[in-house]
Amino acid sequence: MIDFELSPGIENSRQMIHMMAEQTMRPISREYDEREHEDPTEWHQMIWAISSQSPVTFGGGKKKGDGPSESNLASVVSIEELSWGDAGLYLSIPNPGLGGAAVAAAGTPEQRKRFLARFSEGAPKWAGMAITEPGAGSDSAAITTTATRDGDEWVLNGTKIFCTSGHRALEKSEGFVVVWATVDKSAGRAGIKAFVVDHGTPGATVVRVEDKLGIRASDTAAIVFENCRIPYDNILGNPEVKGEGFKGVMATFDATRPAVAASAIGIARAAVDFVREALAKAGVEIRYEAPAHKLTALERDFMDMESTLQAARLLTWRAAWMMDRGMHNNLEASMCKSKAGLAVTQVTQKAVEILGPLGYSRKLLVEKWMRDAKINDIFEGTQQINLMIVARRILGYSNKELN
Ligand SMILES: Cc1cc2nc3c(=O)[nH]c(=O)nc-3n(C[C@H](O)[C@H](O)[C@H](O)COP(=O)(O)OP(=O)(O)OC[C@H]3O[C@@H](n4cnc5c(N)ncnc54)[C@H](O)[C@@H]3O)c2cc1C
Repeated sequence: MIDFELSPGIENSRQMIHMMAEQTMRPISREYDEREHEDPTEWHQMIWAISSQSPVTFGGGKKKGDGPSESNLASVVSIEELSWGDAGLYLSIPNPGLGGAAVAAAGTPEQRKRFLARFSEGAPKWAGMAITEPGAGSDSAAITTTATRDGDEWVLNGTKIFCTSGHRALEKSEGFVVVWATVDKSAGRAGIKAFVVDHGTPGATVVRVEDKLGIRASDTAAIVFENCRIPYDNILGNPEVKGEGFKGVMATFDATRPAVAASAIGIARAAVDFVREALAKAGVEIRYEAPAHKLTALERDFMDMESTLQAARLLTWRAAWMMDRGMHNNLEASMCKSKAGLAVTQVTQKAVEILGPLGYSRKLLVEKWMRDAKINDIFEGTQQINLMIVARRILGYSNKELN
């Protein structure tokens, strides 16, 4: 059965989140773009009071045969509304985030409980996921951070860069960062495991918080691990080198790519909505019923923006819907991420273009949306990497055959 209608539950929460985004995010959007490294503390407290009642995690270890749910579809719909409000503030929301997604994808039921329970109690908290290193980004199998067993502890050594919410997770709250490290370099991918490093662990130091083009309300940290000791059972999933390993941690992306796509769609929709209103105010009506040869260039451009956005949203909903049914969505997660990342960069640039100098001016948020857009084409696998995954899955090539 194919049904594109949202359930009353999702639709109600979509409307509530939209109202909250309009009333609490838009008014501080410019301010926290300009005050890049400052925390919107009051807003964080307010959103934590809501989000800690029902913390959002992606994936959640749903297995085939569990029966359908709609939690992932509900998440992507919510993320679109929050990012319509402000994508940087959305990324700064205290919640399990990417770290939580990794725990949900690769952790045992006991680990999920142990690490995620904190997100429904106490003060605001964040979690991050640290894969990228100075010498390893797209090729995540090339990471060099090591985890060496010493009795009932692991000792981590290495440098991670560009960790979203890393500063807030490790030094500003009682959160954690999931760190990818190799337990055996000679084993290649099979030796790569994910480890939970709790806030305040000696040997884990945030050495830099990046200045960025967009999503400036979100912190992006460089972290050095120097003889950082963590408990043995903070390794996520099976500790055996021959176990799930890299495949298990890579499953995190099948859950997080639709979330990134949804954020991209939210930014693109902000731009489309704004242009539609601006055109209406200027007395320009889009004639959807007019034959193609009679459309103005502006009408064509606007329809193109709308259809690109709709196509990206449908791919994203499909990837989330599959997750809700415990279906393998590796292809669909990369499809929606690559489409939405490209769509948002094209749509926001077109919005600036249509609005002319006003679009370029800081009087409006349109130039900010254009800056916020680009990251969706970079993190959680770049445009090129996701397209390569799509090609591999469709053509039936292995990682070795197509890279
Ligand atoms: C704001 C921000 C937040 C981030 N948050 C996180 C986070 O929370 N956790 C985390 O671990 N990382 C994070 N990252 C890092 C991000 O995931 C990486 O930047 C990304 O994966 C690309 O890796 P790289 O920077 O090493 O680029 P490279 O891998 O060096 O890529 C450079 C260019 O080469 C292209 N390229 C690379 N390999 C191929 C190939 N085989 N075929 C075709 N083209 C190729 C890429 O598409 C890209 O255009 C973040 C980055 C930013 C900017």
